Amino acid sequence: GRLRNGLRRTRSGLTEGLATLFVGRRELDDELLEELEMRLLQADVGMEATQKVLDGLVERLGGSGGGTGETVLEALRSEIVKVLEPVEKPLQIDTDKRPFVILTVGVNGAGKTTTIGKLAARFQNEGRSVMVAAGDTFRAAAVDQLQQWGERVGCPVIAQPTGSDPASVVFDAHQAARARGADVLIADTAGRLHTQDNLMEELRKIRRVLGRQDADAPHETLLVLDGGNGQNALAQAEQFGAAVNVTGLAVTKLDGTARGGVLLALAERLQVPVRYIGVGEKVEDLRTFRAADFAEALTA
Ligand code: GDP
Repeated sequence: GRLRNGLRRTRSGLTEGLATLFVGRRELDDELLEELEMRLLQADVGMEATQKVLDGLVERLGGSGGGTGETVLEALRSEIVKVLEPVEKPLQIDTDKRPFVILTVGVNGAGKTTTIGKLAARFQNEGRSVMVAAGDTFRAAAVDQLQQWGERVGCPVIAQPTGSDPASVVFDAHQAARARGADVLIADTAGRLHTQDNLMEELRKIRRVLGRQDADAPHETLLVLDGGNGQNALAQAEQFGAAVNVTGLAVTKLDGTARGGVLLALAERLQVPVRYIGVGEKVEDLRTFRAADFAEALTA
């Protein structure tokens, strides 16, 4: 349904036109392998994961009378699942932590604000009470956008005037969440400061302040990446990962891109759980990441 539709651009790059080569086919030849390699690389699967998928295919289908009875397309799907399965670890809200604190990080434009709004809606729909901390105090627009989501979803958004100390916003929000017994606190952060060092230092400061409130907080540090950035998303993940302990990824805008294969590259390279994928603008378009669903949507 929606997932398949959302991923159609990546799917068509990967498998369209291969149908005639694939259908009913149980054998690999060099021509087919080369074609597949090119398409995987074009979908931003990256060298390592591409090699892994192709090796797996050869092992499954090729060589001396192997043959599991699978078609090439089914085998491709299985190999994609194999790469993605290790990072399928959906976010579990630990109800002993109150509030359960999710710190969201990522560069401007990645889809952080939208993802926070969608998550707030999702959690509220699950019957949890949510509060949001408008920790990007540099962009008035980001605060406005969060407040609009707050009104739509019916959850409080704690904000301070532009230029305030983000760590103090997050501190206040945590106090308020605790006082009100909120289940989940989602904190936004800036996506750009004068320098990269400033940004990373600010994120570390927010973490320290949270840690003083609750030694385990944040319970999740969610890095939001624009899937349309393909391999650049990897570089961003490595930068943020070096500064803060990223515990989960949300990969957005997979609907607008033919580079959805970047999920395999991220899985292979970083081994950080992929919590959510974004395949559209609506609340329900933020999906819990499931390896099998993703592979199916790419190859079905
Ligand atoms: P931020 O700067 O990181 O806070 O980014 P925003 O949340 O403002 O998102 C930037 C743009 O991307 C907005 O127009 C969002 O509607 C859009 N966006 C976010 N996630 C998705 C997604 O999964 N699919 C699509 N098509 N658009 C998205």
